[in-house]
Amino acid sequence: MTKHIEPHADGSGSTLNWLRAAVLGANDGITSVASIVVGVAGAIADVRTVVISGVAGLLAGAFSMAAGEYVSVSSQRDTEMALLDKERAELRDMPEAELEELTHIYEDRGLSRATAESVARELTAHDALRAHAEAELKITPGQFTSPWQAAFASFVSFSVGGIIPLVSIILPPEAWRIPATFIAAIAAMAITGALSAWVSGSGYYKVILRVVLWGALAMAITYGIGRAFGVVGL
Ligand SMILES: [Zn+2]
Repeated sequence: MTKHIEPHADGSGSTLNWLRAAVLGANDGITSVASIVVGVAGAIADVRTVVISGVAGLLAGAFSMAAGEYVSVSSQRDTEMALLDKERAELRDMPEAELEELTHIYEDRGLSRATAESVARELTAHDALRAHAEAELKITPGQFTSPWQAAFASFVSFSVGGIIPLVSIILPPEAWRIPATFIAAIAAMAITGALSAWVSGSGYYKVILRVVLWGALAMAITYGIGRAFGVVGL
């Protein structure tokens, strides 16, 4: 099994980004919904109220993640489109200067003047816009993430994560609901932590520990606050 995947130009880099986004979304779903249900369960014994809060929290979180992702991907795409338009116009209006610019980029990367020139010429002849977009802007034309797709992916990954604590607060007998949810959520966070360590190629221990500690802290705090409200009788 490969421990490291190197982001590469043709697609696998964006696959990694997808995977990273999905793992983060799932982790958010686990943490938020688990915190909500243990918080409410800490205050109120009625399981129906707990489940309604959990479902509402899951939907609210999934929609808010989806909206956030839609906005962020759209504006990134707008920026990239604008840059490509500008590049296209420059290639049309001053092809010589643009060829020189591309040659310089390859010289800076360590090619000799002669090699850089012929690389720039051949790439320009093949697909000038793509050559400039990739070398200068680090954009591959035509490889844009759809904002709708990104929004949908966030919605789904958050929901998948959020369903875990929801199930673990519903299924067990009453005395076990809260501990079962802590355990299920922490186990699920450890899995998302391991996945994100694998995706980023960093050390498992550190990433898993970080994800689990923050998640456990969030649950412990909301549970504590829920208990306090429950005791006071608000
Ligand atoms: Zn250019």
